[in-house]
Amino acid sequence: MAVPARRTSKAKKAKRRTHYKLQMPGLSACPNCGEMKRSHHACPACGTYKGQDVRGNEA
Ligand SMILES: [Zn+2]
Repeated sequence: MAVPARRTSKAKKAKRRTHYKLQMPGLSACPNCGEMKRSHHACPACGTYKGQDVRGNEA
């Protein structure tokens, strides 16, 4: 089985990882209040999902 000829240097590894944080998976601004929220989840700030309030009627 093929293996890497030499180990990846600390610098090479660090430079590759600079991109990791750029695409935070499924994190977008809420269209209702502008708060950062996870996509496919109700907004934790205003409880809105797809334009309607999906919180229970506790408040
Ligand atoms: Zn919101």
